Amino acid sequence: MKVLVINCGSSSLKYQLIDSETEQVLAKGICERIGIDGVLTHKPTGKTPVKLQTAMPTHTTAVSLVLEQLTDKENGVIASLDEIGAVGHRVVHGGEKFASSVVINDEVMAQVEACNDLAPLHNPANIIGINACKELMPNVPMVGVFDTAFHQTMPKEAYMYGLPYEYYEKYGVRRYGFHGTSHSFVSKRTAELLGKKPEELNVIVCHLGNGSSISAVKGGKCVDTSMGLTPLEGVPMGTRSGSIDPAIVEFIANKENMDVHQVLNVLNKKSGVEGVSGVSSDFRDLDNASKEGNERAAIAVKMFSYSVAKYIGAYAAAMNGVDAIAFTAGVGENDGVVRAQICSYLGYLGVVIDDEKVYQRGVEQEVSKPESKVRVMVVPTNEELAIARETVALL
Ligand code: ADP
Repeated sequence: MKVLVINCGSSSLKYQLIDSETEQVLAKGICERIGIDGVLTHKPTGKTPVKLQTAMPTHTTAVSLVLEQLTDKENGVIASLDEIGAVGHRVVHGGEKFASSVVINDEVMAQVEACNDLAPLHNPANIIGINACKELMPNVPMVGVFDTAFHQTMPKEAYMYGLPYEYYEKYGVRRYGFHGTSHSFVSKRTAELLGKKPEELNVIVCHLGNGSSISAVKGGKCVDTSMGLTPLEGVPMGTRSGSIDPAIVEFIANKENMDVHQVLNVLNKKSGVEGVSGVSSDFRDLDNASKEGNERAAIAVKMFSYSVAKYIGAYAAAMNGVDAIAFTAGVGENDGVVRAQICSYLGYLGVVIDDEKVYQRGVEQEVSKPESKVRVMVVPTNEELAIARETVALL
């Protein structure tokens, strides 16, 4: 079956068409600046990429342009839309309602909408994407794959905050966690690479990208994760602060004459390694600036690594031991400096790193030495493939 995977944001829409039998990507691309002007970058596998600057007033126009490209005589990869057997949608927040992927129907749509409150920047855009696809492909089954679903197995002591209980009951204030599709994919793949069943292993997955989250996966089930009610909690990220003393919000609001919303904007968009370094949110820039002697860039990277190492310690304790640590996503897969820094804190766990492999970029491999008590792995994530697999499995 050919599965179209859609990841819809407020002004962008990423897509991949995947052949579920061969797991090959037939085409992928992104529509950007939807509602502003519109740019479509379409990459058909084995053919020349296409860049189209064309009006995209709505997400429906964007989806319709994508479908045109997929079936285009020259740039296309399928003869007709009938070849698309299903659409898998990434949905950011499934609240407590969705502990796994679901076939989308009216009831599901209403339940996803009910989660909008919890992810006001993401869920409404996901819903728009689903509706656009439904309009243009009314007879194609659609599946929703939630970023939060994998984390729904967390025990209550891991997901409750130390707040008045009524906030949990009335508003659903609790830890949900994100990047679940990636944590699930990578923890399973780690087990596969180690020749074990997921049930046999305690794995800590470090999804380190622009947004970063760590998860503790015990016997294949998530028991804790670093992101919370929103993706702001956890380690400091590209531009997000991660966890801070909550009293800082009022303190800065008073000092800088800002309201809560403005402070939250700073915590989301002007903090993290960019805020500390004053250089960039991109770890390539930070590594280069550090090499050139920029102290703030160096401390930003070290702060990030230290924070990840602390979560690894916490999760080793939460699971009463850890068998494998997996690095994934943009930074985790590519940044050897960060990996080596993080592992430098892990000697007490018996981690022994291979000093060459740990610096190799983007290779799926073990980067610890045979004598290491904990296996340290680099495992590239593939959220689109995970969504396509979920979609096929459900249908
Ligand atoms: P997201 O999906 O959260 O937007 P990604 O997982 O794509 O993010 O990760 C983006 C991050 O990966 C950026 O900070 C980028 O600098 C980092 N990255 C990509 N390639 C490298 C590299 N070669 N070395 C260091 N960092 C890298």
